Amino acid sequence: MQLDKTGQAALLKLSEIDLSLTKLKSELLELIESKELADLQSKLTVSSGELLTARTEAERLSLMVRRSEEDIRLVEERLARDTERLNTTSSPKDAQAIEREIESLKKRMSDLEDVELNLLTELEASEIVLAEATASRESLNSSLITLQNDIQTQVDVLKAEGRKLTADRQIVVEKITSEVLEQYQRLAARQIAVGKVDDRGCTACRMNLTVGAIENINSIPENELAICPDCQAFLVR
Ligand SMILES: [Zn+2]
Repeated sequence: MQLDKTGQAALLKLSEIDLSLTKLKSELLELIESKELADLQSKLTVSSGELLTARTEAERLSLMVRRSEEDIRLVEERLARDTERLNTTSSPKDAQAIEREIESLKKRMSDLEDVELNLLTELEASEIVLAEATASRESLNSSLITLQNDIQTQVDVLKAEGRKLTADRQIVVEKITSEVLEQYQRLAARQIAVGKVDDRGCTACRMNLTVGAIENINSIPENELAICPDCQAFLVR
């Protein structure tokens, strides 16, 4: 196929640009599908679940403590009322009944205080768990934001590089004939499409060329493209 020296240089450049674009696309994909990011996101989901459980438990215990305090307050009120009645009654029979009730209320009070003490101990422990779960989730969340920003920065750099390569591609493509370009696209879809003869080998397939093959290549006119006998890539001289 015919292609002048400028076109041949452009063809080699085009192949380099396309290889860079392919590499860039796979780098972008790797960044977007980052395993580290996926791991962190799944850890954050677990941590959010743990935080919710810890918060629910602390709220439940806190509610139970309030209820227990209310129970104690009611018993205290009844005790105060009974004590007053005891002091004012003139009937010994009533006084006996009131004294029995006061005894029973004091027993109930002691039981309720035990329950409240246990609840307060549980509440304190659950608040420690909640504080740890909150800190852990915050730390994971901040790591995730840092990683996401880091990935975004790298993605932006790659995209800018991609735009530059695409603009360069536009320029070199114009220097290549449509006939060569079509054959190039067919080759590039499955292999490195353009090479050079370097140290008796083809740089596209890395195979060594025979002396006869090199002589053949050298005998082709300068404005014509040579073909590698091994990989069929265009050989630019
Ligand atoms: Zn080759």
